[in-house]
Amino acid sequence: PRRLLSVNDLRVQFFQSQSGGFGKPLPIKVVNGVSFDVFEGETLGLVGESGCGKTTLGRALIRLGHAAVSGRIMFDDREISSISNREFRTLRKEIQMIFQDPFGSLNPRLTVGQMLGEVLAVHNIARKESARKRIEELLDVVGLQREYFNRYPHEFSGGQRQRLGIARALAVNPKFIICDEPVSALDVSIQSQIINLLKDLQRELGLTYLFIAHDLSVVEYISDRVAVMYLGKIVEIARSGELYANPKHPYTRALLSAIPSPDLGGKKERIILKGDLPGPMHIPSGCSFHPRCPVAMPECRQKEPLLKELDNSDGHQVSCLLYE
Ligand code: SF4
Repeated sequence: PRRLLSVNDLRVQFFQSQSGGFGKPLPIKVVNGVSFDVFEGETLGLVGESGCGKTTLGRALIRLGHAAVSGRIMFDDREISSISNREFRTLRKEIQMIFQDPFGSLNPRLTVGQMLGEVLAVHNIARKESARKRIEELLDVVGLQREYFNRYPHEFSGGQRQRLGIARALAVNPKFIICDEPVSALDVSIQSQIINLLKDLQRELGLTYLFIAHDLSVVEYISDRVAVMYLGKIVEIARSGELYANPKHPYTRALLSAIPSPDLGGKKERIILKGDLPGPMHIPSGCSFHPRCPVAMPECRQKEPLLKELDNSDGHQVSCLLYE
């Protein structure tokens, strides 16, 4: 398959003013040198605890948020990290985002018809009668009734609002959708409906997804490959089945040990990590996971591991000195 998105050494920094407003603002490195590819038609899952930088990474790809971004981003064979904001706006038709809180991202004063109509008009896709037809098609596609055209977002349940969020993303016929925790605010039974809808749409429309979530079971179910993030870096990336069956990085192992697995009859040993996740202001030296790593070695304090592909592994990459 073709590379649709290729990210190289992406770094995202915020600047925090010091207390009292004295001194230079402090840089906070939220995404700290991340490289990965997303292939056409696949879903790449991106997992990690809150604060690991995964949402910031997703937003930086579409220039949301006020952060300093560096690195190279290629999309559909075009270099998009250095193009002007104006050029980037035209590209926004091809890259869409679905958010965690569908209500927060829907304007409460607009009916479904007005909201989707606005999207179609802004992107010069359809107006008036043809817009109405397109909106009704979109409602069909996401499994909502056409009668909802004149309703307001607050009249919908959480799951229905996420379907609207998906309809809004699909309105512009994107190729690539960044799904940022799209089901984590929903009840478990509704979660699987939305995930299945996303899977069906992917198949029917040939979509490519970056699926960001902290819930490892959800990510396993939807993703072809999974990348694990810790403190602004990808520490492991592999095909989904391989990662879950054969995790290599001590952090991935700890994360996976926390998921109950019915086949082991609860006998799996849970790995409890020491300490809390450090903030991005206090990234430890060497391997940034070393203060919490159950198998840390003395050199882990100084030497920074690089993300490297394991031998004969079909693309399984890990960043840990145990494998160097
Ligand atoms: Fe643990 Fe060292 Fe590997 Fe980091 S490099 S994950 S501290 S063993």
